[in-house]
Parts: sequence; structure tokens; C-alpha cells
Amino acid sequence: MMATTHALIGVVLALVVAPDGGLLPVAAAGLGGLFPDFDLYVAHRKTLHFPVYFSLAAFVAAAVAALVASPVALAVALFLAAAAIHSVMDIFGGGLELKPWEATSDRAVYDHFNGRWLAPKRWIRYDGAPEDFLLGAVFGIPALLVLSGTAQTVVALALAVSAAYSLLRKALVEVAERLVGTAPPELLVYVPERFVEDFR
Ligand SMILES: [Zn+2]
Repeated sequence: MMATTHALIGVVLALVVAPDGGLLPVAAAGLGGLFPDFDLYVAHRKTLHFPVYFSLAAFVAAAVAALVASPVALAVALFLAAAAIHSVMDIFGGGLELKPWEATSDRAVYDHFNGRWLAPKRWIRYDGAPEDFLLGAVFGIPALLVLSGTAQTVVALALAVSAAYSLLRKALVEVAERLVGTAPPELLVYVPERFVEDFR
């Protein structure tokens, strides 16, 4: 799933858990939803994706937040919960291949607890698939209606990014393929192997 889909799910989680919490819980959960995908250029869906550990941490943080009733504790719990939901939900998306619609990879998310890759279920066939955009919209549109000001603008931007990415998803791969095909080998050294191997 797209990082924006995960972020929008985080935003709605915050709006459900802390409807009167203002910007902090919404921002924390939105960022938590985005956070795992910051490993895109490292070991994607392994370095920052923790389906088991984020879930455990979120439960502990939620218990702490319930006890201390502080906005910061709540924000931490929401960040971790959104990151956990992201890490688990990636199992229901596509694999790690660069053309995930071809469904050739058996790797969705790395499970550090059991030390193995979890296979993709492909309910959402690939990131940027029409059903991925729809899922984001199902969460994003209610959030858009409930929020105001900066948060509303950010949600609208996220929806616009999702729409553009969904429309361009396959074309982007063609462009990348052409670039890899024509780029001098000295330059490709700087591109992570994962991005190059599928295109050769
Ligand atoms: Zn992810």
C-alpha cells in the first residue's frame, strides 16, 4: 500500500481515539503511519517495518497513556499504533518486486520476531493500485470533512499525491526501466541493487 494510504489510516485512528485532541494526536498518528516506509532506500519493509514489535510497543504505550493521561503519552501510543497497523497491513498488499502487479515476489514484510519474510496476500494487489487509492479515500475523505486548517490541507495533499501516484504508477516503472537501461554503469553503482536488478 502507498505510504499515504497508511498515513490517512493513522489520521482516522487519531480522530476516533482522540476526537477533541487537536493537532498533536493527528500529526503523531499520521507520521506513525508514514514512518515505516522511510526504509524505502535501505532494506525496504525490513529496516523499519516491525509487525510484531510495533504492535507490542503500541499496546504498552496505550496502557501507559491510559494511566498517565498525558497528551504526549497519547501521541506516542498513536504513533506506534499507526506504525504497527502499517507494518501488519503491508502483508495484505503486494510483494517487494518492482512490478508488483506481476506477483513474482514472495516477500511482503519481514517478521523480525520469527526471523522470516511474510508472504504478500495481495488483497490490495500493489501500491498505487486503484483499490489502494480507494482504500485511502475511504479514510481520507471523512478525515477531510472532520478536520480544518493545516491538518485538512495536509490530508487533501495526501489524497492528491495518492491520486497522482496511482495514475502514474506503471508509467513510473517504465521511465525507471528506460533510465536503468541507458544509464552508465558508474552511475548505477549509486542506485540500490533492489531498484536495478528487476530491470536488467
Ligand atoms: Zn510499508
